[in-house]
Amino acid sequence: MVVIGAGPYGLSVAAHLRAAGVPVRIFGEVMGSWRHAMATGMFLKSTPDATDLSAPEPGGRLSDFRRLHGESELTELTPIPCDVFVRYGQWFRHRYVGDVDPARVVDVDRGPSASGFVVGLDDGRQLAAAAIVVATGLNGLACIPEELLRLAPEGPGAGALVSHTSHHSDLSRYAGQRIAVIGGGQSALESAALLHEAGAHVQVLVRDRRVRWGSVPQPDRPWPQRLAQPASPLGTGWTLAAVCRAPGGVRRLPVAARLLLFRRALGPSGGWWLRHRVEDVVPVRTSCRVIRAEASDSTARLDLTGPGGSERLTVDHVLAATGYRLDIDALAFLAPALRRGIVCVPGSKAPRLTSMFETSMPGLYVTGSLAAPMFGPMMRFVAGTEYAAARVARDAARWVAA
Ligand SMILES: Cc1cc2nc3c(=O)[nH]c(=O)nc-3n(C[C@H](O)[C@H](O)[C@H](O)COP(=O)(O)OP(=O)(O)OC[C@H]3O[C@@H](n4cnc5c(N)ncnc54)[C@H](O)[C@@H]3O)c2cc1C
Repeated sequence: MVVIGAGPYGLSVAAHLRAAGVPVRIFGEVMGSWRHAMATGMFLKSTPDATDLSAPEPGGRLSDFRRLHGESELTELTPIPCDVFVRYGQWFRHRYVGDVDPARVVDVDRGPSASGFVVGLDDGRQLAAAAIVVATGLNGLACIPEELLRLAPEGPGAGALVSHTSHHSDLSRYAGQRIAVIGGGQSALESAALLHEAGAHVQVLVRDRRVRWGSVPQPDRPWPQRLAQPASPLGTGWTLAAVCRAPGGVRRLPVAARLLLFRRALGPSGGWWLRHRVEDVVPVRTSCRVIRAEASDSTARLDLTGPGGSERLTVDHVLAATGYRLDIDALAFLAPALRRGIVCVPGSKAPRLTSMFETSMPGLYVTGSLAAPMFGPMMRFVAGTEYAAARVARDAARWVAA
């Protein structure tokens, strides 16, 4: 078995496979996305009870890690720093997974026999695998709108006129510069706060009419309130509670309902604990669209439209907090023939999956965000590892036994 990726999903699947005695190789940097694709100083938006990796036995929760290390218990009112979560992932790896090979997978293709795969690594090694679990998260899926991409003909990045939030692990490089942050979700708002605190001159440009903020958790809610708005790992409310309780039920919904749920269940919003660092601190323009962007010397000129009409904004850098597109074709390490053989959810470029997360290509499994159009929004979050990991591991193990 080969697991590609050593983030929350890859580690959780690998832990279950190792516990079942299945020979497995895991590739990727342990908690790599949390170390390099999120800026220093960021916090998780999730609450501690929605942040556990899936272990094959009791004792692997975030709270267990904290207790064993003599660290104080986290509550709903304690935002979790990303570096705490990284240390938890590293501890989980030692405890349940063992060896992880940091090499990157650059090629996956069908093997010479009808079944099985050949996996190519960035250091030139090749190996055979009976089955593959893709757990590469949002890597390679960052999305920057076309009009902004024109600012960086050589490609977006921290040193270009436009970058995506996933390009940054340290935003302090922009101290003293004029930065436009595009987007109205957590990434945009938290990046804006960090940029401001590092001494940059930030403006946030939001397409929606207003910025939404999460509400402060109330740990001891009276029962009528709990009944009206049940709690779930993704927040309160019946819809969220239902999709978290029954991802398998979500999978059985008609495609149109599933995609609607996927697009609407969790709109962009900022964490409650971030509000005081942004509201009345960082200028935020709502109902604002960038209709044109052009590079001029070393600055970016943005033509904006909004309720007050059109306007031009000149900045030193544009930070696109414009999310990710779930597109199996963007996984460049899958051979083109393999990608072509993967049936997608109609109306999307995300793979259609069995109840055990297997694609239409036998032996090829997909977890994490790319599974969200099938199993619902929980798969976009760490909380989904509990549902996914044991299932994937149980089903994938049959390829090794075969
Ligand atoms: C800014 C931001 C904040 C977030 N906050 C939260 C939050 O508070 N709570 C929450 O639940 N979720 C949050 N998420 C979503 C989060 O990304 C997922 O919940 C979680 O990381 C998914 O785990 P994963 O294992 O699927 O992917 P990742 O954590 O992205 O792990 C991917 C792994 O794949 C490896 N990899 C990638 N490509 C290759 C390759 N070609 N070869 C080998 N290895 C490869 C990487 O090195 C990494 O080890 C956030 C996302 C972002 C962008």
